Amino acid sequence: MSNTLAIAIHDLHKRYGRMPALGGVDLEVSRGELFGFLGPNGAGKTTTIRCLLDLIRPDAGEIRVLGLDPHAQGLELRSQTGYLPGELNLDPALRAGAMLRYLAHLRGSRVDWGHVQALASRLEIDLHTPIKNLSKGNKQKVGIVQALMARPTLLLLDEPTAGLDPLMQQRVYSLLRSAQAEGATVFFSSHIISEVELLADRVAMIRDGRIVDLLEPRSLAERAIRRVLVVFATAINSESLHDVPGVTRTEQLDQRRLKLHIQGDMDALVKALALFPVESLEVERPSLEEAFLASYSRPSQEVAQ
Ligand code: ATP
Repeated sequence: MSNTLAIAIHDLHKRYGRMPALGGVDLEVSRGELFGFLGPNGAGKTTTIRCLLDLIRPDAGEIRVLGLDPHAQGLELRSQTGYLPGELNLDPALRAGAMLRYLAHLRGSRVDWGHVQALASRLEIDLHTPIKNLSKGNKQKVGIVQALMARPTLLLLDEPTAGLDPLMQQRVYSLLRSAQAEGATVFFSSHIISEVELLADRVAMIRDGRIVDLLEPRSLAERAIRRVLVVFATAINSESLHDVPGVTRTEQLDQRRLKLHIQGDMDALVKALALFPVESLEVERPSLEEAFLASYSRPSQEVAQ
């Protein structure tokens, strides 16, 4: 495996009994990337992440994480990784601070307690509160602190912002960006498209246990279909606009108003419109949500790269 890769997954298969969960996942994440792993419920995100740490054993396929074999070199791998599981298992009887001290102790001498306190303060966690009295969101924050506290080389985060309010989501984004700026690779799963758009350098979309798309969020938006409403100064015959490159649909609302759907850049359309007396032009910003759903609804053979 190339040393520039933090994660390399090749043809990963996993079944739970007769139920296929992963059907040949291929994925490469470079060192230093902030990588989003997007997919609907049951797509295989958690299964993939758990295979990366050998918490479950794949049926077939190859995995290297930080150049290590998760099965044969699990201890070494875990010592360099911060992991936030989808379902956190914290001791309800302990106070948040004691829980974190215990987890820091398991990590050995590498955890700076001042850093833990700074993270807890940034996420507004009261370290004196018993875990059992913490809300779901506050428990999630404890999980985030324990993942970050040893300044790991790799962060594997299963839905890090689940249950967090918008302010805390923003704080987590900023903590993840800081971790990346300090050299960490961050791999996080999500079904929130806007957070992936905001955060990730690249995103892989998983559906039914297969990667169906791999792209940069910006290109996702560029690929989306824009809706354009053109109001002409006079009644026009818009037939010539139907064949403009990129126009996928036209709808004549009345003699002066035309609605178009366009995919890709708008250069050809703008040039074609120059021949008409245009009164106004409204372009709806492409919705990442729509692009995402479009990508999901296409057959996987069509979108796989
Ligand atoms: P979510 O966003 O809902 O957390 P996910 O993308 O993380 O979903 P996984 O939890 O990896 O998806 O699940 C993938 C598939 O495997 C789903 O169909 C799920 O029902 C199934 N599955 C997951 N864990 C088990 C298990 N322990 N036993 C049986 N089936 C399982």
